[in-house]
Amino acid sequence: HAKRSGRNIFRFFAADMNLIAKRKILIISRLRQALERDAFYLLYQPQIDLQSGKVVAVEALIRWQDEELGNISPTEFIPLAEENGLIILIGEWVLREACTQLKIWQTHYAEPIKVSVNMSAMQLKQENFAEKVEYILRKTGLAARFLELELTETAIMNDPNHAIKTLTQLKALGVTLALDDFGTGYSSLNCLQKLSLDKLKIDKSFLDNIHQKAEDVTIVRATVILAQSLSIEVTAEGVESLPQLEILRQFPCQYVQGFYFSKPILPGEVLKLLQSEHRFT
Ligand code: C2E
Ligand code: MG
Ligand code: MG
Ligand code: MG
Repeated sequence: HAKRSGRNIFRFFAADMNLIAKRKILIISRLRQALERDAFYLLYQPQIDLQSGKVVAVEALIRWQDEELGNISPTEFIPLAEENGLIILIGEWVLREACTQLKIWQTHYAEPIKVSVNMSAMQLKQENFAEKVEYILRKTGLAARFLELELTETAIMNDPNHAIKTLTQLKALGVTLALDDFGTGYSSLNCLQKLSLDKLKIDKSFLDNIHQKAEDVTIVRATVILAQSLSIEVTAEGVESLPQLEILRQFPCQYVQGFYFSKPILPGEVLKLLQSEHRFT
C-alpha cells in the first residue's frame, strides 16, 4: 500500500514538473517574439522625497502583455530571459524606452526628475556595457544626470573587479547608481564605497513589518545611518501604509517608494501627477 501511494505521489510530482517545464518552454518561445510584436511596455513608479513630498524620480518597470498568455509578471519572465540571454536585448529596449519617455516628459514639465532603470547581472557582465549606455543616452538626447541605474548585490558580487571597472565608467558618464534590494544579497560593506554607489534601496522585506517588529526598525535605522556616513542616499522600497511611513520619518529616511504613495503607473498618469505638483507628505 505504501508503495502504491508513493508511486502516486511520484506521478503527481512528475505531472507538476511537466506543467512547470511546459509553461517555461512556452514563455521562452513567446518571449523571443515579444520585442518584434511590441508586446512590452513600461510602467513607472514614483519615488518621493520625504522632506518635500515631491516626486524626484520614477522607476521604470517592464510589463509584458502576450496575446496568448495574457499578462506575465517580470518576476516570472525576467529570470527566464536571463537564462537564455534575451535579457540583453530586452534590457536595451527598456533603457532606450525609459530615456525617450523622460525626454518627452521634460518637454512638458520643467522640474528635473530622474528615471531609474533596472539592470540585470548579465547586462552588467558585458565588456562594453558602459559604451552601450553612452550610445543610448546620445541617441535619445537624455542628459546622463537624469538616468539612474539599479543594480543588485548579486550582479556586482558575481565579478566584483569587472563591476568596479564598469561602474567607474558609468559614473564617468554622469549617470547615478543605486543598489537595489539592499540587504537580500550579500555585499561586503567595504565594497560599497569602492563601487561609487549613489543610493541604496532598502528591500521591501525589511519594511513589511517595520511597524510591528523592533528588530526590523533596528536594521533599517542602522542601514540609514551607515549610508549617511558613507554619503550614500537611501530609498525605502515597498512602503504600503502610514504606520510604516511614520517610522521612516523618525530616522529620517530620505526617499520612499511604494503602493502607499503610488503603484507603477502609465506615462500619461506620471505627467498628470507631475503637472499637478502634488505633495505627498
Ligand atoms: P524591483 O526592481 O525591486 O522593483 C520593485 C517591485 O516591487 C516592483 O514589482 C513594484 O511594482 C513592486 N512594489 C513597489 N512598491 C510596492 C509595494 O508597496 N507593495 C508591493 N507588494 N510591491 C511593491 P514588479 O514591477 O513586479 O517588478 C519585480 C521585479 O522585476 C523588479 O524588482 C525587478 O527586479 C524586475 N524588473 C522589473 N522590470 C525590470 C526591467 O526592466 N529589467 C530588469 N532587469 N528587471 C526588471
Ligand atoms: Mg528596482
Ligand atoms: Mg527592489
Ligand atoms: Mg529586484
